Amino acid sequence: MDAEDTVSGPRPLPGFERTGLVRSVQTPEFDGITFHEVLCKSALNKMPAESNLPFKWTINPMRGCSHACRYCFARGSHEYLDLDAGNDFDSQIVVKTNVAAILRKELARRSWRREQVALGTNTDPYQRAEGRYRLMPGIIRTLTDAGTPFSILTKGTLLRRDLPLLTLAARQVDVSVAVSLALLDPELHRSLEPGTPTPRARLDLIRALADAGFEVRVMVAPVLPYLTDSERDLNALFGALADAGAPAVTAFPLHLRGATRGWFLNWLGENHPALLSRYRRLYGRGANVTPEYSAWLRSRVASLTERHGLGPRPAPERIPENPSPDPAADAPRSDQLALFA
Ligand code: SF4
Repeated sequence: MDAEDTVSGPRPLPGFERTGLVRSVQTPEFDGITFHEVLCKSALNKMPAESNLPFKWTINPMRGCSHACRYCFARGSHEYLDLDAGNDFDSQIVVKTNVAAILRKELARRSWRREQVALGTNTDPYQRAEGRYRLMPGIIRTLTDAGTPFSILTKGTLLRRDLPLLTLAARQVDVSVAVSLALLDPELHRSLEPGTPTPRARLDLIRALADAGFEVRVMVAPVLPYLTDSERDLNALFGALADAGAPAVTAFPLHLRGATRGWFLNWLGENHPALLSRYRRLYGRGANVTPEYSAWLRSRVASLTERHGLGPRPAPERIPENPSPDPAADAPRSDQLALFA
């Protein structure tokens, strides 16, 4: 703890009673953010059998995400803690400080089958808080020591800190790394994904991963209808990804589900009010774009991947609904699902 940290006792919200809250911390380095440090009882979350994904297990060292993407699919999971899916999701970050120690115990069980574990399925494990808490090195070492293959999906350039460790891990177990980048426009980036590293920094991350020998997967997701789906924008993005050494991309359109829908449409109304009626026509009352838009985007993406020599990694027709029956579990976010669909 830093000398300037402000520490308070457990926040009197019923949802927090379920988390093993130890204390809440604010620090000048993270203005506007409160960290709720908890002692978790389990690190591994089991995916439901019907999820139909190649990974059976996930780890989410934090809940909430200061990357604050307006379209974030995981927002609704904060409501389980009696926090809201908007600003609270961005600024009230639950940190499982003992996650690596608990994971080590879980992986030491004789029943552990060394099945694939996915990180970054609900919130970003390399969001800024990871710089303070350094949970990922312990998790990576523990998975590697237990001979367990794993995948990471992130927008966080903090991953570069752990690149030497990941390179070592990849010599012993299967390690898959994916970076999410769906736009280049600096103004849109600031407004839409205000807490994330810049597109330039993420391109540099992709380059660093490729140079380290990783076949880095890139999620061009979500593509925002009428905002980031033009031939010019996608062409520039795909060209930059190819230059950065990405071998293949997956692209799919924005999915609007649950609490995310209202949060995103508020942003759209404030920033691009002329688009509101077009979005209403495109999405109706549902979470997905129309099949016609979906087919149109697939066709555009296919021609651009070919133009830039990016291998095809087809996107699913529809993003599956949340396969987790338990709101307490860390439900996978849509880009992670699509990554393996
Ligand atoms: S989309 Fe990913 S990076 Fe953005 S807020 Fe959600 S979990 Fe964080």
